[in-house]
Amino acid sequence: MRAMVLDAPRQPLRAAELPEPEPGSGQVALEVAACGVCRTDLHIVDGELTEPKLPLVPGHQIVARVTGGGERFTAGERVGVPWLGWTDGDCRYCRSGRENLCEGARFTGYDLDGGYAEHVVADERFCFPIPDAYEDLQAAPLLCAGLIGYRTLRFAGDAERIGIYGFGAAAHIICQVAVHQGRRVFAFTRAGDDGTQAFARELGAEWAGDALGPPPEELDAALVFAPAGELVPAALRAVARGGSVVCGGIHMTEIPSMPYELLWGERELRSVANLTRADAEEFLALAPDVPVRTEVEPFRLEQANEALARLRGGDLRGAAVLVL
Ligand SMILES: [Zn+2]
Ligand SMILES: [Zn+2]
Repeated sequence: MRAMVLDAPRQPLRAAELPEPEPGSGQVALEVAACGVCRTDLHIVDGELTEPKLPLVPGHQIVARVTGGGERFTAGERVGVPWLGWTDGDCRYCRSGRENLCEGARFTGYDLDGGYAEHVVADERFCFPIPDAYEDLQAAPLLCAGLIGYRTLRFAGDAERIGIYGFGAAAHIICQVAVHQGRRVFAFTRAGDDGTQAFARELGAEWAGDALGPPPEELDAALVFAPAGELVPAALRAVARGGSVVCGGIHMTEIPSMPYELLWGERELRSVANLTRADAEEFLALAPDVPVRTEVEPFRLEQANEALARLRGGDLRGAAVLVL
């Protein structure tokens, strides 16, 4: 099968011909239709997440059809495979409904080979049916940008005025969900990024502007999707007393030191790690009701390096998706 392989960090992916993987016990064999390109993939390729299996097939927003293996799905069924690929089921986190924090967790496209390939195998307990309303291409970004973005939004509680910092794949989905829930959305982008600010307004944001400038009014919560540590004090400064700042990414540059008064007033700062299967079920049921529409730019499998470069440059509208 054709695959794109990471041999070592900070090197381009290599186009390779690999043997088709065989499903083990409890695994399904899948033929990949589309695989979203996530910022986490970029952090892995760039060596900012330091412990991938090597060589590695990246990719954890996989839309695929079952070809065999397992008991839960029948051949031909369409499923999605997200970042959370396996948990031990019996650590203190798993036993308390927090499998996203599992100490033994294995992640798709990091500890396990992922979807930048024609075929992949996955633990059937961590695969999800994809809502019929979505084509393969449009479904792919739901599987991480959507799921982890949704978990991030949930930690905003019932905040009415939501700031979204970094308007990429996750933000463009979560903006639609937040507006659907009756919240007011304020989008914060790089200074002068008129194209992205217009995109945010098209998706229902009532205001869009410079991330390091002042907000037009106080926020009740801020979701930080961009991996830039300097946004954390900026977001804390923008939220009202009692407000929260939720960081949705897996990696961020160093957060600058800041005066305690930014946190004072019962402001909260937290990160979001991974996802649970319950997050996936809840979000995939909600998405077609909103309805969330994903903006995607398709790339061929062999163009994976180009897709990653475009993401690194902040030069994408919505999400990049590899089409097999
Ligand atoms: Zn566990
Ligand atoms: Zn991801």
